[in-house]
Amino acid sequence: MLTDFLLLFLLLLALATGWWLGRRDKSRRQPPPGTLPDLSKDYFVGLNYLLNEQPDEAIDTFVRALEVNSDTIETHIALGNLFRSRGESDRAVRVHQNLFARPSLNREQSERVQLELGKDFMAAGLLDRAERLLKELVNNNSEVGRTSQVLLVDLYEREKEWQKAMHTLSSSLLKENPRLQKAAAHYACELATELLAKNSFAAARKQLKQAQALDAACIRATLLMAQLELQSGSAKSAIRLLLRLPGQDSSYVPAMLQTLVDAYLLLDQPRELASTLEKLLQEHKYTSILLHLAETLRSLGHHQEALEKVSHYMRHQVSLKGVDYLIDLYLDQASGGERAHLITLRNLTRQLLEHKPEHQCTSCGFQSVQLYWQCPKCREWGSIKPIVGLEGE
Ligand SMILES: [Zn+2]
Repeated sequence: MLTDFLLLFLLLLALATGWWLGRRDKSRRQPPPGTLPDLSKDYFVGLNYLLNEQPDEAIDTFVRALEVNSDTIETHIALGNLFRSRGESDRAVRVHQNLFARPSLNREQSERVQLELGKDFMAAGLLDRAERLLKELVNNNSEVGRTSQVLLVDLYEREKEWQKAMHTLSSSLLKENPRLQKAAAHYACELATELLAKNSFAAARKQLKQAQALDAACIRATLLMAQLELQSGSAKSAIRLLLRLPGQDSSYVPAMLQTLVDAYLLLDQPRELASTLEKLLQEHKYTSILLHLAETLRSLGHHQEALEKVSHYMRHQVSLKGVDYLIDLYLDQASGGERAHLITLRNLTRQLLEHKPEHQCTSCGFQSVQLYWQCPKCREWGSIKPIVGLEGE
């Protein structure tokens, strides 16, 4: 509602300015008696449309008629911005484009309008047009230049053009913006992930070092570095890196478990794996650690021990995933009618677990089954964490 009032106010203000300018021009030009100058005629048409609640036509007439000079340029920019904020980006484009085409703008004004037009195109989803406009502004040593950089980085992020996003960020901009440092570390991690998929270890390592330099707290870089070590055959280095991770941020312990298990299995050390998991479980109460531990004990033939551990843990911190696994363990020993009952029970837990979100964004509350490094809803980096409790970890 507030924006509607503001829009009306701006329109009326612009109308008044236009009317006054029209009068001034009229007195200067002295048109022949009985004729209205074009400007004020357009204003009356615009006003008539507005009164008849036809804002589309009103705005077109309005924009055509409003004289652009140092007195009205701010009104034009504000009017366009208002349309954009209301989600009417096509109208914002029309207002700003009309302004941008005027030869009377000085360089500073022209760059400001170009920036607003870039924002309009972004809001309209016309990313290639926004990119063209913003690229021309990023090297300016001004507020417009810095804002354009931030917008262009955002644009490349949306398009998953990680390399371009990295190249756009200047070191001075990074220095003053911790949020961008965090995002840039993730861009480097995205590039490292692509390189790892191609087994380009040296290039991937370089990206991960850069990620760590940008954001020393970047858990993802540590995780990927461990994956790199494992993939290139250094399982011991991978384990060393992973065991440092809980000290960095314990909420990502569930995310590192599979790599940890794979590393110990590559070394053929299931007993060491079991004792590492046991230690981890004492410090971090996550069901997934328990389940990996039970699975390892099972593989070593210690079925009874696995069963005791899971049922003991479930008595203290029950979770659906744990109960489901416990039924599995009982099934191993059951026979006949008992087995049939357990299978019925397990089908029920599986039904409850199906499509159950395991992660949640700490910033906007978005829930997902898989772990996203960037929240698909609020686009925050590193904000998605495992859900803890009965239905989660
Ligand atoms: Zn979110």
